[in-house]
Amino acid sequence: MLNRRHFLGGLAGIGAAAPSVALVTRALIADAVAQTPTAKRGIAWRNWSGVQQCTPAARVAPADIAELQELLASTPTPIRPVGAGHSFTALVPTDGTILSLSRLSGIVAHDPDTLQVEIRAGSRLSDLGAPLEAIGQAMVNMPDIDEQVLAGALATCTHGTGAGLGAMPTTVEALQLVSPNGEIIECDRDNNAEVFQAARVSLGALGVLTQVRLQNIAPHQSRRESWILPFEELLENADHLADSNRNFEFYYIPFSGMALADTHNFTDEPAHSTEREDPNEMVELLRQVRDWLGWSPWLREKVLSTGMGRIDKEVVVESSWRNYASERNVRFNEMEYHLPREYGLQALREIRDTIEKNYPDVFFPIEVRYVAADDIWLSPFYQRDTCSIAVHRYYEEDHRAYFEAVEPIFRKYQGRPHWGKLNSLTAADFAGLYPQWQQFTRVRQQLDPDGKFLNPYLKRVFGVS
Ligand SMILES: Cc1cc2nc3c(=O)[nH]c(=O)nc-3n(C[C@H](O)[C@H](O)[C@H](O)COP(=O)(O)OP(=O)(O)OC[C@H]3O[C@@H](n4cnc5c(N)ncnc54)[C@H](O)[C@@H]3O)c2cc1C
Repeated sequence: MLNRRHFLGGLAGIGAAAPSVALVTRALIADAVAQTPTAKRGIAWRNWSGVQQCTPAARVAPADIAELQELLASTPTPIRPVGAGHSFTALVPTDGTILSLSRLSGIVAHDPDTLQVEIRAGSRLSDLGAPLEAIGQAMVNMPDIDEQVLAGALATCTHGTGAGLGAMPTTVEALQLVSPNGEIIECDRDNNAEVFQAARVSLGALGVLTQVRLQNIAPHQSRRESWILPFEELLENADHLADSNRNFEFYYIPFSGMALADTHNFTDEPAHSTEREDPNEMVELLRQVRDWLGWSPWLREKVLSTGMGRIDKEVVVESSWRNYASERNVRFNEMEYHLPREYGLQALREIRDTIEKNYPDVFFPIEVRYVAADDIWLSPFYQRDTCSIAVHRYYEEDHRAYFEAVEPIFRKYQGRPHWGKLNSLTAADFAGLYPQWQQFTRVRQQLDPDGKFLNPYLKRVFGVS
């Protein structure tokens, strides 16, 4: 048996003789960036992948709510709240003011009986695991990474995986919002219920989320198992795996015929682990195989399937908050659509066929997750159990043709795009996909009649001229 590192090492010999596509691409992109006119003011802002950039007139970070209110009253518009900049869509870019809650973070209060906690919305998810454990709590579920800020994660309906588990905003019990005109609004299911429905997933268009009450669960050990298997075998078992594990997701590895399955379940076992692999190394390996063997799909599949078929199962037992999130060091751009669960695997087959017929440059695994239905107005999981499919493209490579080829497949199956991930939809499309669209836009209009929080992208999303 092999581990991924040995597999990588074995392949390095092939690569030594091959020319580096990445070097050429990097040089071309450096040229393009050099030709972009330099803005004269402000400190440039860019998102995690660099696909979104702007030079705002100002960047502000209030120290308390009073300062935030004063800023909202005095700052020229537009104003855009920012979290950790991990969204791929143009939700944040503005030539006005970018506002961060980085100074408003941490746990405010908690209730040991209900396992609810009040958290300042500027908290990074990665800063919450240990303090929550110390007060006897853990988040119900978590996304792939924990770099996001709580408010940013909620605004785009960030999710993990688990057929019986909702996305992150489903655990919000109450929230505090400071509206664009500086009014403090407290809301929950009974008080200011419409604002609550709209603000749990808001795209940062309703004002500044300052504090959130989350429903948590008791801290627990989680057992993660990851193993490689033939893609067809995985497809046959995917529904069963989704229903019989607390968390189940899988990745199809393009041009390999193989998939990586990943499950999490509660356990009483003490912490232990097999040799831990770095997922970033796996992606690097796939890129190298693409560079060396992309000219021969047959050879590429042979090498990948043989090597991967011999990789050991990985088992890691530790606190859930440590076990869910991993580091993503290989940067990419991403499109993710949320499909009615019953269409997910059919759509995935079509995506695989499209890639393997027309896009030999693609090497990033396709990620497939399961999320339970909810009742939040702008949640892509609104009233439907979901299979989410995500395609990625290395950040130095042009993602557009690939994403444009895959998006019609997502749309054919009534997919709703992740609010933070690339898509081409406009207001008319969203109105058709979201039964509560008009309710949301009415609340947005009431809270922000002058459009202080609208940037060009949000104007397109909401159909505001
Ligand atoms: C490597 C990587 C892995 C990812 N993994 C996952 C995953 O597993 N699951 C998933 O669902 N998504 C995932 N995402 C997407 C990511 O979770 C979302 O895009 C999320 O919104 C990013 O949070 P952020 O703090 O970076 O917010 P930003 O991207 O900075 O902002 C997102 C939105 O939040 C708004 N906002 C921020 N702060 C406030 C505030 N205080 N009040 C009101 N609005 C506010 C912004 O205006 C914007 O509209 C991933 C992204 C990357 C780059």
